[in-house]
Amino acid sequence: MNTIAAISTPDAAGGIAMIRISGGDSIRIADDIFTAANHIKVTEMRGYTCAYGTVSDGQETLDDVVLTVFRAPHSYTGEDTVEITCHGGIYLTKRILMTVYLHGAEPAGPGEFTKRAFLNGKLTLSQAEAVMDIIQADGASALRIAQYAKEGKLGREMHEISSELVDLMSALAYWLDDAEECPPELERTTLTAKLTAIHRKLYDMSARYQDGLVLRSGIRTVLLGKPNAGKSSVMNWLCGTNRSIVTDIAGTTRDVITEQVKIGEFTLLLSDTAGLRETENTIESIGISQAYQALDTADLVLYVADANTGMTDEDTALIEKCSRHHVILIWNKTDLSDAAPPELQIPTVQIAAIYEKSTDQLRDVLRQIFEQTAGSPGAIPLNERQNLLIRHAAEAVRAGIEVAESGNELDMMYADLEMAASYLREIEGTDVTDDVIDGVFSKFCVGK
Ligand code: GDP
Repeated sequence: MNTIAAISTPDAAGGIAMIRISGGDSIRIADDIFTAANHIKVTEMRGYTCAYGTVSDGQETLDDVVLTVFRAPHSYTGEDTVEITCHGGIYLTKRILMTVYLHGAEPAGPGEFTKRAFLNGKLTLSQAEAVMDIIQADGASALRIAQYAKEGKLGREMHEISSELVDLMSALAYWLDDAEECPPELERTTLTAKLTAIHRKLYDMSARYQDGLVLRSGIRTVLLGKPNAGKSSVMNWLCGTNRSIVTDIAGTTRDVITEQVKIGEFTLLLSDTAGLRETENTIESIGISQAYQALDTADLVLYVADANTGMTDEDTALIEKCSRHHVILIWNKTDLSDAAPPELQIPTVQIAAIYEKSTDQLRDVLRQIFEQTAGSPGAIPLNERQNLLIRHAAEAVRAGIEVAESGNELDMMYADLEMAASYLREIEGTDVTDDVIDGVFSKFCVGK
């Protein structure tokens, strides 16, 4: 493979910048342009060592730099790799990169270093995708999910499931070819139970994807409740105590303002529909379209009820309307009343919004709700590609279960199991076309 190079740090001025060169010629190219202060040649440097020196374009010295050598296969890409860390001026960094090109390297494409790591067996496809998610993670939950995938948890789980499928296929093939008596593992009830368990695992994993998505992109949250329950005060409490890390983002509609609020490791995209109420007097105020729009696309509803006036039938009816969402009851104005919140089987936070300083209670409730996703050490699909393959695999397994249950010839199941296993292998990249690989890496940035 040719030798490639790119700037791996952002395209902006900074304290330092790093140029990465990977491929068979990288050490020779580095040797051409670098002079070590201790006069050691790059070609003589061992892997995982660095040297201080200068880079020159042949005419003049460009900068003093630190150069690190990685010897194949012990590098990120699996190839000989050199990283040059220089002062982080944009012009300077580009000039050093140009010098590297002039000595024989070619510009790296988007994600090409990671693509080489995949092609050289250093990472699976899902681990490569996780690298991108680690770079983009903007909160603890997003980072944790990406790290699990990078550690290979998703891959291991896919491998275990496809091994189970392959074992069943082997037993099936053996029996169809040679055996006269049906082996016990192929008894229809045993087979149905095994496939149902596999289907369940795949189904659960796909269900966790949606929550994972929510955690990565921010939990779309709306505040609902009757007029005067304290919605605006709750909004101020949540935004006020987090003012330093609150940013305005353009609302999805012109009238709904969304604030991004960090509650512990969670990011809430909090839609302020509270203001909408000002134009209306009645409980029907939440029926106005913007509030409904926000509710339609919400992941979470914070339902604010007034502890002092107590829970009314209208409150209960409104909460019932939200049954498709995660709902948290905010039992507000507890400074005015000792009344206990109603027993509604939904998580409840008891506060006096105008005095409240801490958001710990709410964070704990969010943890309960998203526990499986946020805290689970299990595998969660990272993107639509992975999720779709898991769903296709689940459908193929379901077709297999139908064969087992229907009393049809078992050999009809073989193709279903084979298809399911192949979908799962595609997640890890063991069974993929170049188009799939190119599609995955085209989303990466240059230099990664
Ligand atoms: P909204 O109509 O639901 O947005 O309610 P507001 O946030 O505007 O609050 C209505 C009234 O209740 C205001 O006068 C608030 O100051 C008051 N209020 C809100 N939360 C509390 C609370 O926790 N304790 C007390 N004592 N008053 C509150």
